[in-house]
Amino acid sequence: MPRTTDQSETGAPTPSPHDADFAFATRAIHHGYDPAGFSNAVQPPVFLTSTYGFESVEANEAAAALGGRLYAREYNPTTEILEKRLANLEGAEAGLVVASGMAAFGTLILSLLSQGDELIVHKTLYANTLAMVEQAVPRFGIKVVAVDLSVPSNLKGAITDRTRLVFFETPVNPLSRILDIAAIAEHAHARGVKVAVDSTFASPALQRPLEHGADIVIHSLTKYINGHGDALGGAILGDAKTLHTLHETGLRYITGAALSPMSAFLILRGLKTLTLRMDRHSASALAVAQALEAHPAVAWVSYPFLDSHPDQVIARRQMSQGSGIMAFGLRAGYEGARQMMNRLKLITRAVSLGDADSLIYHPASLARARKAIRKDAHLADGVGEDLMRLSVGLEDAADLIADLRQGLDAV
Ligand SMILES: *Cc1c(COP(=O)(O)O)cnc(C)c1O
Repeated sequence: MPRTTDQSETGAPTPSPHDADFAFATRAIHHGYDPAGFSNAVQPPVFLTSTYGFESVEANEAAAALGGRLYAREYNPTTEILEKRLANLEGAEAGLVVASGMAAFGTLILSLLSQGDELIVHKTLYANTLAMVEQAVPRFGIKVVAVDLSVPSNLKGAITDRTRLVFFETPVNPLSRILDIAAIAEHAHARGVKVAVDSTFASPALQRPLEHGADIVIHSLTKYINGHGDALGGAILGDAKTLHTLHETGLRYITGAALSPMSAFLILRGLKTLTLRMDRHSASALAVAQALEAHPAVAWVSYPFLDSHPDQVIARRQMSQGSGIMAFGLRAGYEGARQMMNRLKLITRAVSLGDADSLIYHPASLARARKAIRKDAHLADGVGEDLMRLSVGLEDAADLIADLRQGLDAV
């Protein structure tokens, strides 16, 4: 007799694949998508439509009352699957996906903060987030206060009655330092302030900030979550009320930065292998970090799961593995970095991270080039002239180590 799909042998109902009780890797493949609702298509269809037709004026009004299922900037079935899945994987009530990681940060700040409010950020940030908080956010009358959150009690002196949000990355781009989510959240919550964490470097496979007390998580989906270097995307995950505001104002009319449904499809496809990829990225990166640390031309290596990392106790508490990114510097400094990078044959010289391809970049070289265009361009606090950021891909680790060695041996 064929077994029915909704009853187990004990007669208890078996959860359907979109139920929440499955483990992470299973939910990364199935959550939020029920093929029965989409002609039994096993993979989610891509809805390339800008608008939706209605049978009557009344039906149109009803859709508007439900929160704008009228037009593709506010609603798309493919992107909605991605929102549900990401929210589930982060342990959030709701999610919003947007056109890029920068769109996620912009949507968050411009929707939740107003003139006169204050925003606290960690002193080291991804270069474009830093540009936004230094050059754009203050133009709207929002005061930005940069604090060293590696000492969480520094928040005590920085929070005022006007502070609305504490924002930081962990791991921190590009230093791969780790900030203590639980300790920072405790200080912020004591004063009634919300905490938003950019968890791009870890992905929800390795770190779920909401479980450590954060209120909101943002991601550049461009990085590990898509993982293949072929789409841009961003996400904001958190409580339903905040996400409703972000959707109804931030996406609808403040930024309008809707994610393309084709990109949502690609990111959903990438997400299916996230668990496997993060295991491999992490294992290879640890091997690469150890090999770099042992090379005489290398002055220092910062990788969260190395014994020499200053934050490794916090890293091991809030991350299950170290992820694929490290920072390192050579004894030969700035010039040494340029020489070594130019000798690499396998590892690609490129910005971005989290792809199957290993990518290496030297922030100081790019900052010098940018300075010619913008005088105030500068490196983030703590980023030295010698620092290189390496995103270890999914190639064979031995090949990556050999490429780095042949580059380093000449320096
Ligand atoms: C890349 C990155 C961003 C920006 O994301 P985009 O998708 O490139 O706009 C934000 N935060 C971190 C930590 C990043 O690495």
